[in-house]
Amino acid sequence: MATQNHFIASLAYIDQRLDELNEEFGELPELEKDKQHELAIAKLQYEESQQIFADVQKFVITARNTLVELKEKEENLSKQQFLVRNNKEFDALSKEIEMIKQEHNDLSNRLRNEGVKEENLSRILEDQKANYDKLRAELVKIRQNIEELAGEQKEEVRLLNKQKELIVNNLKTYNYKEYNRIRKNLSDAATQIVRGRCSGCFNTITPQKIVEVRNNKELLYLCDHCGRILLSDDLVIDQNLVEDLLEEINSNS
Ligand SMILES: [Zn+2]
Repeated sequence: MATQNHFIASLAYIDQRLDELNEEFGELPELEKDKQHELAIAKLQYEESQQIFADVQKFVITARNTLVELKEKEENLSKQQFLVRNNKEFDALSKEIEMIKQEHNDLSNRLRNEGVKEENLSRILEDQKANYDKLRAELVKIRQNIEELAGEQKEEVRLLNKQKELIVNNLKTYNYKEYNRIRKNLSDAATQIVRGRCSGCFNTITPQKIVEVRNNKELLYLCDHCGRILLSDDLVIDQNLVEDLLEEINSNS
């Protein structure tokens, strides 16, 4: 089963190969890295706003229904008031009606506020989407430039970028952001645990953590010493891993 650990491992494998190829391309690879980091942050912000927006919309729909129900309830109670036989019953109903009116009032106010929020959010979403699209276009442009410069290795670079795109699409946005954040300073942002050590900094990893990483491959663990993402020691990270993963992505889509 493809886990986040598999995706990160494949991404790291592809990036390593791209880095080797990229050495001759001057500042472009650096630009690409920065752009990816920006893009990952923009994507995360956009998705967070989408989530908030969805929650607000859900609230608005529920609140509108509740307001209708409260109104009906109030009307029914008012009708009942005509049928009561004594003051005590009448007062009890009055009290209940008053409470429902209050509830209706409070909810109406909240709904108005959420309406303002909804409007603002939809504007923010538009801006964030535009920003994301802009960054994406810039990233594509940088990659095209790299591919142009790649000469003989053009096809390989193009293929690697394509594979990378597929993997990134299946990576959780937060993990993608983390990977790129680390990669800004450490080009090998994700490294495997080998013989009990982080292969990025060669510090020892506790046996407990090694087991945790192995058993929770959907989560990402960082090396306590160097901050790189730790890849499970039971993965075999090579071309086959990437190909199997891409095959699985393909068969799922
Ligand atoms: Zn380390």
